[in-house]
Amino acid sequence: MGKKDLSKLYERLMAEKRRLEAERARLTDRSGSGQGAGLELADYDLNHPADAGTELFDREKDLALVENVNSLLDQVNGALAKIASDTYGICDACGGRISDARLRALPYATMCISCQSRYED
Ligand SMILES: [Zn+2]
Repeated sequence: MGKKDLSKLYERLMAEKRRLEAERARLTDRSGSGQGAGLELADYDLNHPADAGTELFDREKDLALVENVNSLLDQVNGALAKIASDTYGICDACGGRISDARLRALPYATMCISCQSRYED
């Protein structure tokens, strides 16, 4: 992969990182660790007692989303670290090259396609 392609992927990874961090902040905010959010929630439950279950479900869903965002962030940060250390595009499992097409489709891929499919079995 040429330097130009690599710097394009780097830009994409940085943009993805910012997007994921913003998403995580939004989700963490909404799951209401703050005092204000708690009060709001109490008011809401008082007026709509039947919706309390839905609210709980939404918070659980948010937590699952935060976990998902965190694991994506790990992958994105891993890819950025690999670019910095000049090992980007090397499969974590077999040490072979990950194809450029795969990296363009999934810039934070850590394994080549054959290792990935073996891993998923
Ligand atoms: Zn591999």
